Amino acid sequence: MAGPIAKARHVTPRTRQRKGHHALFRPALLLAIATMSLFALVAGRSAVAVRVAHGASAAPTHLAVAGVQAGACMSFAPLQGSTSKTVFIDPGHGGLDPGVVGNAGNASGKPVLEKDVALAVAVRLTALLRADGYRVVMSRVDDSSVGRSATTGILAGALTASAVHQDLVARAACANAAKASVLLSIHFNAFDDPSVGGTETYYDSVRSFARDSKKLATEVQASVVSALGSGDRGVWTDDELAAPTLTSSGDVYGHFIELGPASAGWVDDPSSMPGALVEPLFLTNPGEARYAASVTGQDTIASALRTGVERYFSGV
Ligand SMILES: [Zn+2]
Repeated sequence: MAGPIAKARHVTPRTRQRKGHHALFRPALLLAIATMSLFALVAGRSAVAVRVAHGASAAPTHLAVAGVQAGACMSFAPLQGSTSKTVFIDPGHGGLDPGVVGNAGNASGKPVLEKDVALAVAVRLTALLRADGYRVVMSRVDDSSVGRSATTGILAGALTASAVHQDLVARAACANAAKASVLLSIHFNAFDDPSVGGTETYYDSVRSFARDSKKLATEVQASVVSALGSGDRGVWTDDELAAPTLTSSGDVYGHFIELGPASAGWVDDPSSMPGALVEPLFLTNPGEARYAASVTGQDTIASALRTGVERYFSGV
């Protein structure tokens, strides 16, 4: 293949989205996450495990992290047993930043937004991992940004460059506050040619734990490709992207903020655990966008990510 073509994580969001009343939906979504976790448990586990789960608190707790919004960075206890491991799950974008605005080719013309699909997959993955005994910390649990400056850093209905930067820094800070064993950021891809599709996964090769990050990325990539039958576009390092970046600072940095190393004044508190960023499908490919927006697609992607994460742990 010629090379990775993922849009950079820090490309300026172009589509103008009005801020919705997402705060009203937060309690409902948290309840949905708790209910789904229980459902996954009942569906897949023994009666003994269910009794244990009923004794466990399903209520998530907010981790107070500087620069993080009050409703973001939420910790979910395992629903049964404990692996003593925490998985940090980061659904990309949110709020005024829709990420990729995809096209499912539907008559309705309703766009498929990366922020929505990433969150839907993340919620499902959280349920599955909790049922398997993992503590999960989600960077966001609703349609909002993670970084606090997203409430002020708005220009013409979109986040400013500095607000996007602060949002990404806040996600890394949340992962660190979670003391997570691994970080998995969920995004969806885009390209000018709607016929292009497939799966790509990224890691950062300069970190001290790069070997483990590569293993995580490789397991996640293999699991997703296997489960979806998608085109295997490969595992790449985050400095291999040739996509345009947000600012001159970003150009100089040359890494994904959530995965990359420290850089004074740009990334002062880098993520401290192995991590990967997965782009399971292209939302600019109508067939892939339809699948990614469907319940079946989201369940399948989440299940594949769970397999990838657990294969990583089994081999560490
Ligand atoms: Zn994205």
